[in-house]
Amino acid sequence: MNATEVLKTYFGYDTFRKGQEDIIGAILSGRDALAIMPTGAGKSVCYQVPALLLPGITLVISPLISLMQDQVKSLNAAGIHAAYINSSLSETQIAKALGLALKGTYKIIYVAPERLESAGFMNFALQGMISMITVDEAHCISQWGQDFRPSYLKIVDFIESLPNRPIVSAFTATATMEVKNDIECVLKLDHPNTVITGFDRENLYYSVEHLSGTQKDEFVVDYIDKHSNESGIIYCATRKNVDALYEKLSGRGVPVTRYHAGMDNETRKNNQDDFIYDRKPVVVATNAFGMGIDKSNVRYVIHYNMPQSMENYYQEAGRAGRDGENSQCILLFSVQDVIINKFLLSKKEFEGMEIDDIELVKQRDAQRLQAMEGYCKTTSCLRYYILAYFGEKTKGSCENCGNCHREYSEIDMTADAKWVINCIVEARGRYGLNIIVGTLLGANRARLKEVGATSYKSYGILKHRSEKDIRLLVDQMIVDGYIIQTQEEYSVLRLGDIQRLKDENTHVIIRKSTEREETAKGNRKTSKKTDSLTRAGYMLFEKLRQLRLVIAKEEALPPYIIFNDKTLIDMCAKMPVNKQEMLNVSGVGENKYNRYGQRFMELMKLFIADNPGAVTVEGVYSGEYAGDGKTGSLSGVEQRAGSRQKKAPFRITAKDAEKFEYAEYCYISDIKDRLNDICSVENVKKVTFTIIWDYLVMKGLTIEEDREGRLTKVQTEQGLKMGIKTVEKVSQNGYPYQLLMYPETVQKMIVEYFIRDENEDF
Ligand code: ADP
Repeated sequence: MNATEVLKTYFGYDTFRKGQEDIIGAILSGRDALAIMPTGAGKSVCYQVPALLLPGITLVISPLISLMQDQVKSLNAAGIHAAYINSSLSETQIAKALGLALKGTYKIIYVAPERLESAGFMNFALQGMISMITVDEAHCISQWGQDFRPSYLKIVDFIESLPNRPIVSAFTATATMEVKNDIECVLKLDHPNTVITGFDRENLYYSVEHLSGTQKDEFVVDYIDKHSNESGIIYCATRKNVDALYEKLSGRGVPVTRYHAGMDNETRKNNQDDFIYDRKPVVVATNAFGMGIDKSNVRYVIHYNMPQSMENYYQEAGRAGRDGENSQCILLFSVQDVIINKFLLSKKEFEGMEIDDIELVKQRDAQRLQAMEGYCKTTSCLRYYILAYFGEKTKGSCENCGNCHREYSEIDMTADAKWVINCIVEARGRYGLNIIVGTLLGANRARLKEVGATSYKSYGILKHRSEKDIRLLVDQMIVDGYIIQTQEEYSVLRLGDIQRLKDENTHVIIRKSTEREETAKGNRKTSKKTDSLTRAGYMLFEKLRQLRLVIAKEEALPPYIIFNDKTLIDMCAKMPVNKQEMLNVSGVGENKYNRYGQRFMELMKLFIADNPGAVTVEGVYSGEYAGDGKTGSLSGVEQRAGSRQKKAPFRITAKDAEKFEYAEYCYISDIKDRLNDICSVENVKKVTFTIIWDYLVMKGLTIEEDREGRLTKVQTEQGLKMGIKTVEKVSQNGYPYQLLMYPETVQKMIVEYFIRDENEDF
């Protein structure tokens, strides 16, 4: 078998993803390898496929017991003999496993780094034929990173003590240069083939919501209501927050569990299993939760509080959408979060560290926190903020995050700010946010009467403003230092440094956001692959899920190890009823076919019998699920029903073309809209900006150029000759940008390009 055949037979995938082939090729040619790929990119396949092709055993060094167990379960389910050796096994079990390993029973053995030092294990390693050592989560070797594990430093001694140096491959999702260099040097990689794929996770939709404490609760409750069938993680900064939110949600009947370091081991393990096995699809947790959680169908990660660094955020948020399905990462931000984090950092302990080092770490922590705060406050593209932070070049905006779907406007609230100050003075710094905001709004509350706030001059003075605006204003004033919010249990508002406010050139500006129109129309790419299922398709999907749950219970495996959601959706689209068709489903390899194929096919046959002619997917089925990058074709019910629904590429008739409204100059988006409007050909896809742009590039009229680190769309010399011109624009945020406009001659070229003969074969 070659690598592609191994991928298909054991993992059920047709093609390799970006970077995988490169890494596998290097390993199989005997070279060391270092892969830096984001979560969900498919790192495991990069060492598991060669492990099956190399003559001896592959040892995978992995830091977490749960991660090892999960991987071994997945491999066994795929028909690959693998084992793990860690402290969850007794000495007898370990001895037995090592004995079997020496007889060649396992191709892959997962092992904790501490184990490498044990005499029993060393003895095995000296006798066994070890072809490759794979270091998973290799960033743990770096003292620069936050996950440094001293036991990782022993790996190199272990490798050096082996009679023949095996191939060494290392994998991580951490991209900073320091970490990369550390891995190469400390592990003594020998001229490794290093593959770094982009860090972008296209299926994740990022957004930040500025909310106060109570608003956060409402947001979470509302979000879970609207996404009740989905699995999600809600991260809170403190155990207290976890418990409070957990009580609130479980009180409302949400199937939720919780996880934090204050709970005993057994409860933690049970709760984690409830989540993994989908018995409780929602978990509220501190950041103690998640390392090594491989659950692939997490559809959202909500941060109830701002984390302390972008590194933490990206790692935690990255637990969403490992299966490649669209998922959301939402951060709920309040100014209070910054204060809490500063407080937590001030309490950090530095036992045994040199004084200079302590200063350095403190500085670094403060910088990290600042960058994190910057993410919460930026009005620019969130995705590009993240990528830029991790050192990747970006271009413009992604048009697929909360900020790209929002317009920000600024309101000058300097005069209102002075009233906030007056109110705090009148309250003599004794009351908290709710009383101050209530007073300014002139709220009719008993508590305000009780404390005498109704007789303040400031009572009701800002009643023309909304409560949200006043809260935003107070938040802003805290950030600006005009107000201090104390940290006791009953936090109160006090005056900070108000001197600057007296200067007439000082302004207090709040930033408000409104959703852009197209977002309201549902233009976000948060749609799920299940969205392409019709009602019948969804019914089938649910049935397949139920069957998966039954099998999962029988085999005591998490459901996603049997088949992940993506595979089930692909089954709904392809409706396989024989072996060949079943093996065509993405994620179904030989072994899984042998174990589960019949049961799933029987269910589908029953479904077809009960729903003759049912259509399970809408319009085009874009074989994207197959992860093979090719356009898939409809099969199953639709073909059986004889109604192929695959749409052809866009085209218009000569008659349509006559209806095109030419302008002296217009943008590509205008051309696109007009073409779609006049098209009378049935069953064709819509024309998109990219299709037109690619045509112009192909014609040599336009090109994307790197200008000061940004990819910018420009006309070529030939394009300039054809009359394509640049217009300067200024964005809402005051940033200048350029757009291209196309003259009538170019518009004609484009229109003509799309006129095709009706009978032309696409
Ligand atoms: P990582 O370790 O990089 O976070 P995983 O190895 O867990 O990612 O892979 C993420 C998901 O992608 C898994 O469900 C895996 O089966 C799937 N996957 C990996 N390689 C491919 C491929 N070539 N085609 C389709 N899916 C793949």
